[in-house]
Amino acid sequence: MLTPTQFIRQAALKTGTVVTPTPWKEKPADKKVRKSEEGKIRMGDHVGVVMEDPGLEDVPDESCWLCGGEISGRGRQVKRAILDTFTDRDKARAPWSDSICPGCAFCLSYTTLRNYSILATEEGLRHPGRAEIKGLLLEPPEPPFLLCIAVSGQKWLHFRAEIAYSQDGFPVQYEETRVTVDRATLASLLDIVEQLYAVFTKAEILSGSYGQNRIREFGLRRFQELEAMAALVRGSRLFDLAVFVAQKKEIEVPAAEPEKEGLCTTTLTPTIQSGQLGLF
Ligand SMILES: [Zn+2]
Repeated sequence: MLTPTQFIRQAALKTGTVVTPTPWKEKPADKKVRKSEEGKIRMGDHVGVVMEDPGLEDVPDESCWLCGGEISGRGRQVKRAILDTFTDRDKARAPWSDSICPGCAFCLSYTTLRNYSILATEEGLRHPGRAEIKGLLLEPPEPPFLLCIAVSGQKWLHFRAEIAYSQDGFPVQYEETRVTVDRATLASLLDIVEQLYAVFTKAEILSGSYGQNRIREFGLRRFQELEAMAALVRGSRLFDLAVFVAQKKEIEVPAAEPEKEGLCTTTLTPTIQSGQLGLF
């Protein structure tokens, strides 16, 4: 059984080079900057990070100090891998151990795994943006998967996360909060929030304290209906998450008639005799 960090490591190694949301900038011809940029390459307009194991060493412990997962010989010593600046020592699952597993060693080696949200699956790893996260919450990938939603980008979330083994009632790590996502409930919360978000700010929706001018703009009666529903769930973890991922509804433009590709293959092709092909 893999722990969350071990699962993330496996996904990242499978992907190899992971594209980040960081825009690519040409490096100044300064040697210091160049050194810190090692392992980063250009991927389209973004920075890609080449992900590989940090240097591992033989370690005697069988349990990982941080995630409690199994270590089979190789890992890193806590005193070398865990810096003084690491503030989550109280979250160590096996505080008696002096070693961490390759999964934790890997996950603590990349700041991109702290700065950005993480989606890990058996297929690989990526850093989804907010709109994509909304889609993932409503249509989760094939389990097992792991989703960490970074808000501050300043905290390690991965070792606090939990691997999801179901596409409904699944756990996600939303900053420091564990949220269990019931898709139908989230969808109905999103519907309320996104209607309000057309006019109100996310801060107003979260707090329930709205500007009078905007209430007039929105329409008092409709506002009262939606706010009555929002008031019932305000403060719940799922409501907070719904507000976080809510998107402005785009103004709907009538879509052009979709191309009916099926017609070409199903009705057109059989009418063309092989002898006619030469005419085209
Ligand atoms: Zn570990």
